[in-house]
Order: sequence, then structure tokens, then C-alpha cells
Amino acid sequence: MKIIMLGAPGAGKGTQAKMIADKYSIPHISTGDIFRANIKNGTALGMEAKGYMDQGLLVPDELTVKILLDRVAQEDCSNGYVLDGFPRNIPQAEVLDRELAKLNDGIDHAIDVDVPDENIIRRMGGRRACVSCGATYHIEYIRPKTEGICDVCGKELVLREDDRPETVGKRLDVYHEQTQPLIDFYNKKGILKTVDGTRQMQEVFHDIVEILSGSKQI
Ligand code: AMP
Repeated sequence: MKIIMLGAPGAGKGTQAKMIADKYSIPHISTGDIFRANIKNGTALGMEAKGYMDQGLLVPDELTVKILLDRVAQEDCSNGYVLDGFPRNIPQAEVLDRELAKLNDGIDHAIDVDVPDENIIRRMGGRRACVSCGATYHIEYIRPKTEGICDVCGKELVLREDDRPETVGKRLDVYHEQTQPLIDFYNKKGILKTVDGTRQMQEVFHDIVEILSGSKQI
């Protein structure tokens, strides 16, 4: 099962993607996480990506597409995967389609986690990420067991550079201009489903599971 998660930055698609990956035992592939791991490890790719990310801009397609295609070609992806943060624009979606078509394959589901901009702005200011493993929390909605400390690895939680209010505004502009057209793109292919992402994460997940098991027509 190959799944694409769509939605504005901060809509909760990463959280849902992880839950899907766990339930269906498929890899969760986040291009944002791949870039952040490269930044942490000080790679050339990471250094290049950071300049764009800190400004709320997309990393150029030449870098992003190669990373993604290499990742989905790995052995653990043979039964499918859930993509979180890719594609981010129509050209990326077209490359992915073309590469999958070469293997007589295609995306099965595109799930749009729909959240209005006002909610996004409120959510992202409260988001905290682990400096070490990248796990994300929220000061109101997904609290760590100990304030400011990651449940997974015990390291410090911080407000990510790209979650700062000024960057969030830019990321939302980029989302509306470049990523939102993908909703129409996948709708035309007949594989788009929309879930209301303003509810509790377990409720959103319940809807997604119904969609993936084929029982919900939206
Ligand atoms: P995310 O964690 O998905 O919100 O991604 C964080 C940042 O990484 C984005 O704001 C972009 O700068 C960059 N990024 C992640 N995925 C992509 C992509 N598919 N194309 C271009 N840039 C990306």
C-alpha cells in the first residue's frame, strides 16, 4: 500500500503518517526528517537544505527528488510506504508517478489532512521538537511526560527554526501556491480522500483507517 499524506505544514500529517506506518508495518518516509538528519550530521546536502528550510522555502527539486527515489527503492519499501512531505509540488508528483509507472505501480491513496490556516498558526507556535531524534510534541495537545524533555531519547525539546511565527507565514504561502494544487492533481486521479484534521488525533486516525480499509467514501 503506497500512501501520500497531504496537508499544510502543522496539519498533523506527520503524526498520522507515523500511526499509519505502525499499524500497517510500512516505512514512514518524511523528506523533512531526512533533511533534518542530514543537517544534524553536517552533510553537504544538509548544509544546502538548511538555507532553504530556515527561510520556509522548498528545497530544490533536484536535491529532493533524488533523495526520495533512492529511499523508496530500498528493500523495506517493497510492501509500500507512507510519504509525509513529498510530493510538495506538481513536478515532484509527476516524477514520482513516472518512476512508479516504470514499475507498473502507482500511489494507492492520497489523504489530505485539512486544517484552516488560523488553526495551523496556533498549533505551530506550540510545537516542540527534540534536538536529537526529531520527535515532535505540542505544549497543549501532545505533551511529553516531562516538560521540555523528549519521551523517546531524553534530550531537550525546542521550537524548530522553521516553526517560528515569521517562518510559518512563509511556509503557509508556499503551501498554498505550490502544494495545494496537488489536492486537485490526486482528486483527478480518483485517489484523494479528505479528513477533517481539526479534531483529536485519534478521531482523525480512525477516519484514515476507514479510508485505507476501503469502507469510507468521502
Ligand atoms: P516538513 O518537516 O515536511 O515540514 O519539512 C520541513 C522543510 O523541509 C520544508 O519547509 C522544506 O524546506 C523542506 N522539505 C521537506 N520536504 C520537501 C519536499 N518534498 N520538497 C522540497 N522541500 C522539502
